[in-house]
Amino acid sequence: MKNYDVLIVGGGPVGLYAAFYAGMRGLSVALVEAFDEVGGQPQNLYPEKKIYDIAGLPEIHGADLTKNLLKQLELVPYDCFTGQKIGKIEKNEAGFSVSTDSNEFQAKSVLMTTGAGLLAPRKLDIEGEESRYQAGSLSYFIKDLESFRGKKVAVLGGGDSALDWSLMLENVADEVHLVHRRPKFRAHEMTVEQVKASTIELHTPYQVSALTDTGLELQVVKSDEKCLLEVDKILVNYGFLTNHLDLIEALDVTRSGRILVDREMKTNFDGIYAAGDGADYQGKVALLSVGFGEAVIAINAITNSISLDHAITKGHSSSLFGK
Ligand SMILES: Cc1cc2nc3c(=O)[nH]c(=O)nc-3n(C[C@H](O)[C@H](O)[C@H](O)COP(=O)(O)OP(=O)(O)OC[C@H]3O[C@@H](n4cnc5c(N)ncnc54)[C@H](O)[C@@H]3O)c2cc1C
Repeated sequence: MKNYDVLIVGGGPVGLYAAFYAGMRGLSVALVEAFDEVGGQPQNLYPEKKIYDIAGLPEIHGADLTKNLLKQLELVPYDCFTGQKIGKIEKNEAGFSVSTDSNEFQAKSVLMTTGAGLLAPRKLDIEGEESRYQAGSLSYFIKDLESFRGKKVAVLGGGDSALDWSLMLENVADEVHLVHRRPKFRAHEMTVEQVKASTIELHTPYQVSALTDTGLELQVVKSDEKCLLEVDKILVNYGFLTNHLDLIEALDVTRSGRILVDREMKTNFDGIYAAGDGADYQGKVALLSVGFGEAVIAINAITNSISLDHAITKGHSSSLFGK
């Protein structure tokens, strides 16, 4: 069995970029993704949304970012396995045995880029949720913005995603209502200012107490005061459940369920590293640009830690690929 220098768990943007960077450093790479297609959150949750905060890219759609990352990956050799969920990581003499339901890999080091996990959305947990979801009037992310055209929409949540989506929906929907249980939003200040200056109607501090035939029943937090909100569509944006805990029990995780790493993106388990949304440390910001930087730090630490005669440890990318 091939013993890869690094096995990357998760083919989201950070995993894809880590695979490129590892290839550039001369490492042999296996990239394993649970979904049938790579790309993680930008590809699956917001393919049509524009991203504005990646250095050197004034704006790019989520799906185009995946295309660009894959184009960049064409520059280096790597093995990619999609539709394979890593279920177990075990230490052995040669490094790590990493297994899915159907496959087993061997690697000298493991980089966890599992991001928000298997993209299982945190549910509203209210009666009727499943039938609304089946009927298409309740969703957890937007794949097709056009299906919201001319509709009255309630967006539930107070983080960056909820606010970003509200602003996108403002351009197509008839009405956008943003419902959050706290008076303050957990989003970029600039986004919060944009939302406040928009036509989006804010409902804070409100929580959803029931789903009604015509929309939602809202309740003021810590009060009995209730009101009805008539909407055609509900977008629940309560984040995602992380699931790396069961992969390897020995990993230290923070309260948010993310993997604790040091400055070199090393976990407490020798040989296992983490980067991107799934990694955590003091001051962590869960953004693409940060994750890409963490991937570089992790791959350089891996290159230094495993003695490889074929590793390329010096030089800038232009000296490697330039003609
Ligand atoms: C609506 C929305 C808007 C956003 N807008 C922006 C923005 O404008 N700018 C910005 O910088 N960031 C934005 N973000 C955040 C950005 O998408 C994340 O920071 C980024 O996706 C993190 O990348 P990642 O590769 O770490 O994780 P993810 O994108 O979560 O990818 C992780 C991958 O790992 C896979 N995986 C997980 N577990 C396993 C397993 N056991 N086996 C195999 N594969 C596994 C998953 O299937 C997934 O493909 C936004 C996020 C959302 C939800």
